[in-house]
Amino acid sequence: MEKGFNYFDTAHGYLGGKSETALRECLVKRYPRERYILTNKLTNFFFNKSEEVRPLFESQLAACGVDYFDYYLMHAQSEENFTKFKRCHAYETALELKAEGKIRHFGISFHDKADVLERILQEYPQIEVVLLQFNYLDYNDAAVQSKTCYDVCRKYSKPVIVMEPCKGGSLVNLPEDADAVLKALDGGSNASYAIRYAAGFDGITMVLSGMSDLDQMKDNLSFMEDFMSLSEKEQAAVAQVCDILRSKNMVPCTACRYCTDGCPENISIPDLFACLNAKKTFHNWNADYYYNNVYTVNNGKASECIKCGKCEKACPQHLEIRRLLEEVAEEFEKK
Ligand code: SF4
Ligand code: SF4
Repeated sequence: MEKGFNYFDTAHGYLGGKSETALRECLVKRYPRERYILTNKLTNFFFNKSEEVRPLFESQLAACGVDYFDYYLMHAQSEENFTKFKRCHAYETALELKAEGKIRHFGISFHDKADVLERILQEYPQIEVVLLQFNYLDYNDAAVQSKTCYDVCRKYSKPVIVMEPCKGGSLVNLPEDADAVLKALDGGSNASYAIRYAAGFDGITMVLSGMSDLDQMKDNLSFMEDFMSLSEKEQAAVAQVCDILRSKNMVPCTACRYCTDGCPENISIPDLFACLNAKKTFHNWNADYYYNNVYTVNNGKASECIKCGKCEKACPQHLEIRRLLEEVAEEFEKK
């Protein structure tokens, strides 16, 4: 706040339901309302009928201790979620709340193909902003389609807010050879190149860096205070990092954990993918240790997946989780 950064993003389910309360204590109780911009979201898991949308919204206002949200987003829109949101008149309810002054700006967060995004923007021209997954590795990724989704936003003149600029930490904790490419530059952190990359595009109004501690906050402030987009040399370096990462055939899981709640076998899916990625990267015993002694002690093993497919419906990255778990089982459970 002292440095002039005043945009805060939350959702009802973040941090096991504690994020809104934390914001109320840390932000709302300590600063006048006009000093900060607060975004909240309407999330699929917390309503099933039209009548439940408004009470959920009111409970979110109460949890945050505010009278209005600056932005309210239809969370994680995809073909499937959009169908449900429409069935429950979620967009219409949000627009009513906007007319009542309880929402200042109405938007969506989005995880699906660009043609789905285009259809939603055509159907609801009232959408004012789109929160997109956007980072240098996903820019040309066939599943995430950051570039084509961004192009659709530009076509419809929608400002873009970026999520996952560091891809859930994957662009920070790089494998050694990729890390060396960025270390050979001028001393910026790995996060700095990822965030500056995302922030350097026209029409990007905000980048949510997803900080976890004070050091990350200080690092982010150091390069975003006097922002400069990536130089040609830095652009070439991140392109080289992309080539290295793609050559390793890593599972592009962002560890959002949307898949884990509904799993009947209580499989800690993102942690098992992290083990597989670590094994592909470092080729040592460490990943086996974590697989056997940490992530499958109180949770199911990859081989215990009953292939019900619930996880894949929840995955914003559209990962073939069932097939990938077979790969995990092959790697860690073979005799
Ligand atoms: S398909 Fe497997 S991992 Fe996915 S929810 Fe079902 S049991 Fe869990
Ligand atoms: S598998 Fe998909 S839903 Fe699960 S944590 Fe990874 S990206 Fe998120």
